[in-house]
Amino acid sequence: MRRKLVIGNWKMNGSRDSINTLLSGITAGLATKSAQQADTAVCAPAPYLAQCQQLLTGTPVAWGSQDVSAYAAGAYTGEVAASMLNDFGCRYAIVGHSERRAYHGESNELVAQKALAAVNAGLTPVVCVGETLEQREAGQTNVIVCAQLQAVMDVLDTASLAKIVLAYEPVWAIGTGKTATPAMAQEVHAELRKQLASRSVEVAQGMQILYGGSMKPDNAKELMAQPDIDGGLIGGAALKPADFLGIIYAAD
Ligand code: 13P
Repeated sequence: MRRKLVIGNWKMNGSRDSINTLLSGITAGLATKSAQQADTAVCAPAPYLAQCQQLLTGTPVAWGSQDVSAYAAGAYTGEVAASMLNDFGCRYAIVGHSERRAYHGESNELVAQKALAAVNAGLTPVVCVGETLEQREAGQTNVIVCAQLQAVMDVLDTASLAKIVLAYEPVWAIGTGKTATPAMAQEVHAELRKQLASRSVEVAQGMQILYGGSMKPDNAKELMAQPDIDGGLIGGAALKPADFLGIIYAAD
C-alpha cells in the first residue's frame, strides 16, 4: 500500500511573519489528530528553509525546496546545491515545475539532471510533469507527460528512480480554479505508472504519484480516492492553514 503524500508548494509567497503563522497553524492542527496516515511537507522559498527547519523539526511536517541546481558546487551564481538543502534538513526538492519550465526555460534534460543531483544528495525529488491546454486540446497529453518522465528515466537507474516522487500538474489547472476531473487525472496517472512499469513493475507500484492543480479541501477526497492518485501538490490552498489541513485530512 502506498502512503498518501500532501506537499504544499508556497511558490514565491510568504514572509518571516506569515510563515510563522502558517506553520504554527498547520502544526497545531495536526497535533489535535491522533493517527495521521498521510505524509506531509511544505516547499518554501530558499531563504525560509532555515525557519522551516527551526519550526518543523520534531513535527510530522517535512520541508523542502522548490528547485535545486543540477550542479554539485561551483561558479553558478544564484543556484542552490542539493547538499545545501541537505544542510537545512530538507527532505524534498521540487524539480521541473511548469513555472520553471515556462519562465526559466528548463528542458526535460535539465529537469532530469536536477532530479539526479537531488537523489545523489539523498533528497527526494518531486518531479513535475504536465501538459498545456493547447497540448491537451491537440490530444497530446500522454505524449507530453511521457516524454517528460522518459527524460528522467533515461538518467536515473532503477534504484534511483525508486527514490523519486512524481507529480502530474496539468498546466491549465494551476492557479486557475479549473481542476482536472478525477477521471481525467486518473487516466494520466495510470499512463505514467504504466510507463514506470516498463522499467520496473516494483518501482511503478511503489511510486507516489501526486496530482496538482487547483486542489482544494472540497475536491481533494475524490481526486485522492482514485487508484493511482497518491496525494497532492498544493499551491494556493497551501497558504491557508485551514485549507491545507482540510486537504491533509482528506488524504487520511
Ligand atoms: P494551485 O494549487 O494554486 O493550482 O497550484 C498548483 C501547483 O502548481 C503546485 O505546485
